[in-house]
Amino acid sequence: MAIDFSFSEEVEQARANIRAFMRDTVKVRYRELSEANDSTEKDWRGLIKSLREEAKARGFWLPHMPEEAGGMGLGVTALAAVAAEAARVPYGPYIMNAHAPDEGNMHTLHHFATEYQREKYLQPLLDGEVRSCFSMTEPEVAGSDPTLIQTSAVEDGDEWVINGHKWFTSGARGASFAIVIARTDPDADIPQARNSAFIVDCDTPGFELVRDIETMAGSHNHCEVRYTDVRVPKANLLGERGGGHKLGQVRLGPARLAHCMRWIGEIEMALEMLIERAQNRFAHGSLLSEKQSIQWMMSDSAMELYAAKLMVLHAAYKIEQGMEFKQEVSMAKHHVANTLWRVVDRAVQVHGALGYSTDSPLSGMLQQARWARFADGADEVHQMRIAEILMRTYNEDGSINGAVGGLPL
Ligand SMILES: Cc1cc2nc3c(=O)[nH]c(=O)nc-3n(C[C@H](O)[C@H](O)[C@H](O)COP(=O)(O)OP(=O)(O)OC[C@H]3O[C@@H](n4cnc5c(N)ncnc54)[C@H](O)[C@@H]3O)c2cc1C
Repeated sequence: MAIDFSFSEEVEQARANIRAFMRDTVKVRYRELSEANDSTEKDWRGLIKSLREEAKARGFWLPHMPEEAGGMGLGVTALAAVAAEAARVPYGPYIMNAHAPDEGNMHTLHHFATEYQREKYLQPLLDGEVRSCFSMTEPEVAGSDPTLIQTSAVEDGDEWVINGHKWFTSGARGASFAIVIARTDPDADIPQARNSAFIVDCDTPGFELVRDIETMAGSHNHCEVRYTDVRVPKANLLGERGGGHKLGQVRLGPARLAHCMRWIGEIEMALEMLIERAQNRFAHGSLLSEKQSIQWMMSDSAMELYAAKLMVLHAAYKIEQGMEFKQEVSMAKHHVANTLWRVVDRAVQVHGALGYSTDSPLSGMLQQARWARFADGADEVHQMRIAEILMRTYNEDGSINGAVGGLPL
């Protein structure tokens, strides 16, 4: 069996080009505008728009999509390398049109959309002309268990009528459409077949954006939305009736991994900042970098990051090969989210007051890192699923190997 951890020259070149673009263009122009005292929101919008145009012109567009959809056609494994580069700068993934939740919605539409849905909803998303959102979580019931969803969709002639209450619909403000998960078949034999997915134009009467929820990291367009007698044509059912759960599974595997890929870029950035600071800060007779307790922080972070990269690459490889990937994605998501939290926290510690201040990006990174441990599957839910698969594999195979990556070791 061949084990080859290198990418093709083409992918390596793409990675190097994207790294250079992010470092020399995006980061520099972002810093210039941040330092300009009189910059307005319009200036920021103009900057992001022009960077997106430049990225598109250079071919750094839709790294997660196949070539026939206008994407870079990298495949999931090579995407890991490129996505981590993009995540090293603010708005990097957005500039390449590869940000959440549009990136997950593109996958979903590419997989399930009808011809009409492709033309009306997917194409403008691929072209970067519109944004979208994904509306599943509800304040009244546990988001970890989609079988509890209360939002309903009822057939009425040629339409579906949707009523319900959602929150943390990311990106809803300014989105052109939402993919909404609603209960269509409350009496289905299996709870997983109760829900269906719908595409809802955000300007449909009854779609009410209640508020942009204030979080511990401020307001970032995670919205509360009410659906009151929202009517959508039958042609807007996405996938099959009762297929909401299946659609979620197809979406969530690669989408969770895509988060991991971006988090790896942030972990690297935090660790580099930790090293830089430790090598320049002097206390009690030596540099911080010469103190063993600080070196342990570096080495623990390096080992956790290395494991994170291997897990992500292996899970991506399994998706790409069409192999079963649930266990590997769950393990990677849990491990990378927790590594992100720990490494950013260590970097804050080494920076002291500077790390806690908003003069450093670390304080914002720590706030963002907090949600990584429960969104797109809480730690405990992934642990529960990992243990279930572990026990089942052991009971069926008499070995746990198939549940720990199925590696030839
Ligand atoms: C920044 C951000 C962006 C988001 N974007 C979106 C979005 O675009 N669209 C969308 O629909 N949702 C979105 N969400 C919501 C997210 O998917 C949910 O927060 C997540 O699914 C958890 O649901 P919940 O918040 O209702 O927590 P709950 O389901 O109530 O869980 C709370 C806690 O209970 C524990 N728990 C749950 N189940 C178990 C179990 N079986 N065993 C042990 N412990 C358990 C865990 O500790 C968990 O963290 C977003 C959330 C955040 C923070």
